[in-house]
Amino acid sequence: MGALGLGVGAVAVCAAAALLLAGRRAAAAVVALAAAFATSRPCLFEDAYLWVGGSGATTGLHSDDENNILLMTRGRKVVRLHAPSDRRFLSPNGRYDSGTECCDVDAFLGEAAKAGKYAGYAGCPAPLRFELGPGDALYIPAFWFHAVRSEALSVSVNVFFSTPLEMARRWPQRAFFAVCHEYLGFWRGDCVCHRPPSPPGPAL
Ligand SMILES: [Zn+2]
Repeated sequence: MGALGLGVGAVAVCAAAALLLAGRRAAAAVVALAAAFATSRPCLFEDAYLWVGGSGATTGLHSDDENNILLMTRGRKVVRLHAPSDRRFLSPNGRYDSGTECCDVDAFLGEAAKAGKYAGYAGCPAPLRFELGPGDALYIPAFWFHAVRSEALSVSVNVFFSTPLEMARRWPQRAFFAVCHEYLGFWRGDCVCHRPPSPPGPAL
């Protein structure tokens, strides 16, 4: 947080205190919340994940609504990366996954094989290819499509992060869809988190 942020923060704290003393508690809370957003760090680190996988372990092609840094600590991984502008070629499938868009295209097939298997893939720019070894890190911007495959027993860590503005824009939509899915049963079974309903068993 720079000097400007400190200045804004100090003014906001004084304003919130004055509103509080004047008995305007709701207004004080709004000012304090706005100040917290305005003066918070440029990026808020959120979820961190540890990934351990054997050779051939694959994460299919998808995009996330958060920025992502992937850090390898052991083994090797290949990452295939498509820009958001390639989305129309990648057969997004609408499967529910909070904050994520999944695609049908297998990014690890050859370009000719993909064009033969997926009707919409023809004309798609080839993905960027990165091979990561221990100590390498890759920044994957939000909404870039990526698929990851371990080439050996691999250990890596990733962190998702967003700016306060990005978080404020994303949370209401995420929360709405999560409530629809978890509590109202929308897209149940066509998701990455629940099994499809079992077919009815034979009549006894
Ligand atoms: Zn689910």
